[in-house]
Amino acid sequence: ESQKSGLSAAVDLKMGLPHVTIPKKLPLIVVADGVLLPGSTIRIPVTTVKNINLVRSRLTSGSKLASTIIGIVTKEPGKESKVNALHEIGTAGVVIQVTGTNWPRPSYSLLVTGLCRFRLQSIIQEHPYPVAIVTQLDDIKDITDENDEQPTELVSEFKEAAQKLINLLDISVPAVAKLKDLVERVPSRQLADVVAALVRATLPERLQVLDAIDVATRLRVTLPLLLRHIQRLKDVREAGSEEGNKENRIVHISRGGRNLLPDPDSLDDSENEVAELEEKIKATNMPEEVHKAAVKELGRLKRMAQHMPDYSMTRNYLDLIVELPWSITVKETCNIRKAREDLDADHYGLQKVKRRVLEYLAVRQLRGDLKGPILCFVGPPGVGKTSIAKSIATTLGRPYCRMSLGGVSDQHDIRGHRRTYIGAMPGRVIQALRNVKVKNPVMLLDEIDKLGTGIHGDPGAALLEVLDPEQNSTFTDTYLNLPFDLSQVLFVATANSLSTIATPLLDRMEVIHVPGYTQEEKVMIGQLHLLPKQLQEHGLSSDILDMSKESIATIIGEYTREAGVRTLERKIGAVCRAIAVQVAEKRRDHEDEAKTSEEMITEAEDRDRRTEQHADETREIELRQEVGEVPQQSGINLSKLREHMDLPVIVDPKLIYDILGPPIFQSGLAGRVSVPGVAVGLAWTPVGGEVMVVEASRTVGDSGLTLTGQLGSVMQESAKIAMSWVRQHAFLLQLDKDFMKDEEIHMHFPAGAINKDGPSAGVTILTVLVSLLSNRCVRSDVAMTGEITLNGVVLPVGGIKEKLLAAHRAGLTTVVIPAANKKDLEDIPNSVLNEIEVVLVNTVEEVLQAAFDDFTDILGENDDGVPAKPLPSKL
Ligand code: ADP
Repeated sequence: ESQKSGLSAAVDLKMGLPHVTIPKKLPLIVVADGVLLPGSTIRIPVTTVKNINLVRSRLTSGSKLASTIIGIVTKEPGKESKVNALHEIGTAGVVIQVTGTNWPRPSYSLLVTGLCRFRLQSIIQEHPYPVAIVTQLDDIKDITDENDEQPTELVSEFKEAAQKLINLLDISVPAVAKLKDLVERVPSRQLADVVAALVRATLPERLQVLDAIDVATRLRVTLPLLLRHIQRLKDVREAGSEEGNKENRIVHISRGGRNLLPDPDSLDDSENEVAELEEKIKATNMPEEVHKAAVKELGRLKRMAQHMPDYSMTRNYLDLIVELPWSITVKETCNIRKAREDLDADHYGLQKVKRRVLEYLAVRQLRGDLKGPILCFVGPPGVGKTSIAKSIATTLGRPYCRMSLGGVSDQHDIRGHRRTYIGAMPGRVIQALRNVKVKNPVMLLDEIDKLGTGIHGDPGAALLEVLDPEQNSTFTDTYLNLPFDLSQVLFVATANSLSTIATPLLDRMEVIHVPGYTQEEKVMIGQLHLLPKQLQEHGLSSDILDMSKESIATIIGEYTREAGVRTLERKIGAVCRAIAVQVAEKRRDHEDEAKTSEEMITEAEDRDRRTEQHADETREIELRQEVGEVPQQSGINLSKLREHMDLPVIVDPKLIYDILGPPIFQSGLAGRVSVPGVAVGLAWTPVGGEVMVVEASRTVGDSGLTLTGQLGSVMQESAKIAMSWVRQHAFLLQLDKDFMKDEEIHMHFPAGAINKDGPSAGVTILTVLVSLLSNRCVRSDVAMTGEITLNGVVLPVGGIKEKLLAAHRAGLTTVVIPAANKKDLEDIPNSVLNEIEVVLVNTVEEVLQAAFDDFTDILGENDDGVPAKPLPSKL
């Protein structure tokens, strides 16, 4: 894993520091509560943005040895507010290890050994991390060529005290043995630093040691600290009681000499944390097995130092355990009548879908368990799939949570990563449950058809395990490593298309199709649901903004091309925003004109902050709200506003053009279909029906038929079938026998970047070919769909409703569909059927007859001069 990069510079840690001069320019790590002294090693947690920047750019990416030398400066205590409040003297150090994690937030920790002091001259760069010009204060020499100076009295006294300290400690501890060794060998100028780093001292005391550049001063400053520590140890020995245990632990930690834990406060922090977790574990009602595991982990946590990387990992894990809803359930209220009311209140139309949902809920209620299939809503975006799922949750009184599966291609996303990984996290199911805080939510598996398969196992299989009622009562997330009972979660899924859902998953689900809306349905949805919602979101009301049905229809017709209503909602939102700005400006104007206290108090924002002393004024507003003078939500004083602008603002098509700009979609089909070799096909896509203008042209060449537009093999074969049919009927179509000689036909399907496949373009391809070869235009108001066979039979295809709605949206008035699809017309609203003439066809000839005004002309005349009849049906 890239998060961990163990750097170990080739520096001998045993005080044998290399003989170096430090660079003039040093990048700085600023620490709030620690001091690095030369010769000692500390661990520094890296959490601030600048420090993280430094670690990332200097240390974790291809670093050279030189770049591991950095400056450590302490924030001047008590000067937090000021910028640049850095202690003037810092320590250059060499980073010997970087560890870290990126989850739940990036956090690293550095192991740094101090080299020498420096004085900050100037900061030459602040971003992305500070860099300073520094002057080196003490020099770094190899300690072995030292010891020329005579030990002074002070040094002897110091060494003696240090010796005393060592005698008090347990020599079998390696750190103590090392200390002993150090005290004996280290030159006097480093002695104070080494000792000061080990004894207990406050931040200012340590800074004082750092500031003591002169060796004698340094020894003088450090000696009292050392003596104090000795005295404390002695006291503890004598007391030897409870209190002593705690002290001993501190001593123990200090003895390690490696932790930046000198001041007792930070130790208390970690103790508080552990105690808090312990409380929570006690308070959480979890299964026996989980409780055991939690207690065991807590035990481990207690034994860890706070800045060890393992510490935060274990703490995160325990946090997860105590936050998971092991036994929290909400009581379900399932009342079919209420469910019907809820669904109706939130959704216009969708009768079939609502009926299926109610049936599902009723059956579930009767059976009294959850082991039924999982509902899966399939349809284009923005048709209300998510919103129905939310309604189900509301109706049942269960909390709702959503798990987006789009783009998930790693089974660990569902199942979680092993905890030993750096940056490991629980899977999405467990995360969702942690957030929703109950064990029986309605969980939406959004975009289940977008689940991918990558190199890291099949997420579909993992999901199957989650959904399988036989297995999911003991679902074991890899991170959590404890079984969690998912059997009470009510899963609901959504998808755009069924074709990419793996069969085993599909087997578990009860599919409910949610098709697109007609123009009329959209207008109603806009008026009844979207507009009120947007008004409220923008702090407006229908007294301020009035949008008629016609205006909504204008938005739908000229600014949207979609099966659902999502763009419509956005566009209505844009109009509301524009009006809200106007209202806000006017309000400001009139407030500036007359700032009486009465008007001031109508300010909605102020209302929240108002305190007791304004209770009278508040009462006044409330009174006025009761009589309806002040709208409660928007906080706008309407009567005042009316003096300045005409209310409500009527949003008519002209205003819509002003706000939304020129129309985005206009039915440009008529223009495009006005040359031979162009026809309009209808396609089904996961995002709804689509009108597709297919074009073909002839050029000199010899490669026959060229197809472009990312076509799948089925579609290419359709083209070949169409071509064969045309060859077969060349005579009837009055084409030369070798009409394709030295010629090539290029056919293109638009939206060339999107993959297309399926047989339903057959009739369109054929029509395009006939149009091109006979040099006649196809009627511009006709769209078509249908599969063809070699013999010219038209076979039924899918997605008729979506295709018809798309044709209707595009303003086409005739749609040619296979006769066998007649049954699908039942689903089509009358409002659409009234405006579209549906031509049911059995054969290719019937298609051509509908597509061309003058099909009989194309067929030419027979030898005996009688105009040819349309070909007899071959069925
Ligand atoms: P999907 O999940 O199908 O992509 P959403 O549920 O997010 O679509 O719906 C988009 C928006 O359209 C939501 O604000 C939703 O409330 C609204 N909406 C969709 N269909 C209807 C409907 N039949 N009645 C009322 N509002 C609807």
